[in-house]
Amino acid sequence: MLRRRAIAATMLVGLPALLYYLSGCLTYADGTLAPPRILLDALRLAAPTATAVTLYLAWLLLQAALQLVAPGKIREGTRLADGSRLRYRLNGWFAFWATWIIVLAVVRAGWIPPSIAYDEFLPLLTTANIAAFALAAFLFWWGRRSPDPRRTGDPLDDYVMGVALNPRVGRLDLKFFCESRPGLILWVVINASLAARQYELFGRVTTPMLLVNAFQFLYVADYFFNEEAILTTWDIRHERFGWMLCWGCLVWVPFMYSIQAYYLATHPHELPAVAIAAIAALNLIGYVIFRAANLQKHRFRTDPARAVWGRPPDYVRTADGSLLLASGCWGIARHLNYLGDWMMGLAWCLPVGFARPVPWFYIVYFTILLIHRERRDNDMCRSKYGAAWETYCRKVPWRIIPGIY
Ligand code: NDP
Repeated sequence: MLRRRAIAATMLVGLPALLYYLSGCLTYADGTLAPPRILLDALRLAAPTATAVTLYLAWLLLQAALQLVAPGKIREGTRLADGSRLRYRLNGWFAFWATWIIVLAVVRAGWIPPSIAYDEFLPLLTTANIAAFALAAFLFWWGRRSPDPRRTGDPLDDYVMGVALNPRVGRLDLKFFCESRPGLILWVVINASLAARQYELFGRVTTPMLLVNAFQFLYVADYFFNEEAILTTWDIRHERFGWMLCWGCLVWVPFMYSIQAYYLATHPHELPAVAIAAIAALNLIGYVIFRAANLQKHRFRTDPARAVWGRPPDYVRTADGSLLLASGCWGIARHLNYLGDWMMGLAWCLPVGFARPVPWFYIVYFTILLIHRERRDNDMCRSKYGAAWETYCRKVPWRIIPGIY
């Protein structure tokens, strides 16, 4: 427990500090790895402004309202430990496009300057941090109504890792909502605003900026187009909703994943046509692998008889009756979806070029995240499925990259 507490405390302090450090490196050190004291320079400019607080609150309210009232199909999640199934309103596709229409209308009306996310980046980051820490405190308290039996009961651990699996306030499922709406959509809105800043500064939007915006827009749009597939992911099924997930979704995703666009906003360079084609191909291949693998698992879990690549699926039956798909992408590696995701992440970093290290932070972090996540998932599946998991691992020995890892 001491170790868990130390990790929790380190994450609570270290991850926000890292984000301010990276922002400091981009803002004051031209994307180089500056001495840690640059963190203090970033913090000096990071106090929430009235504009940032107003914008962020309006943003949260808009996204919550869309989640609650926008049209969308209702689907049941996977079966919970008590045998019940929660119902989810899948209106993300509508909410995503409605948000863009509202954002463009507000900018066009002149109420908000297009490059506001650049000017208010640090105050917005602090505002989002405050919101995430406060929401996690609420979750800690609210979650006690329906605590997950796996929680440790230690206050620090419970705050960070969460108390409840699926906390809901009325019709609002807080985890499902925070997983995507306020963070993922904000990420690509920030990206567009950073492109606008580049245009204001240099009179053009460069190809690298267009590539980064287009790739990440595709990633987020795809998420909402296939929103149903999120219901069978690890986060929704197994992760308690506490500070870690809440902060990750509200703060880390929009403010760290926009790192390439932030750098490019003040670094206008161009790429040779061959590099553009190669990067676009990498992103496309990564996307096809990622999407195919995630859809195959989702479809198999909802309809196990459905053909995979034109053949009846090969699978391993577990003791509790769940089936592990062992054909298609899931017969090539146990997490080919991670490989596709990683290839896309690389394609997002390549347009920034090799002049500065900080915009490459994303792929370093993402590599560590995916390796760690795969190992954690592997351990969990082994303890859950026992011999059936071992059989699956013998059938499909590769973890992420066939033939290599
Ligand atoms: P997966 O969608 O791969 O889900 C893993 C779960 O699927 C396992 O716990 C197990 O759960 C089930 N499973 C494992 N093997 C099989 C099999 N052979 N057949 C059927 N079911 C199986 O993992 P994640 O939720 O981690 O990732 C989902 C997507 O989100 C990935 O594409 C990932 O790259 C992406 N992602 C992106 C992040 C980002 O920051 N960009 C962060 C995290 C994820 P059970 O048996 O209990 O159903």
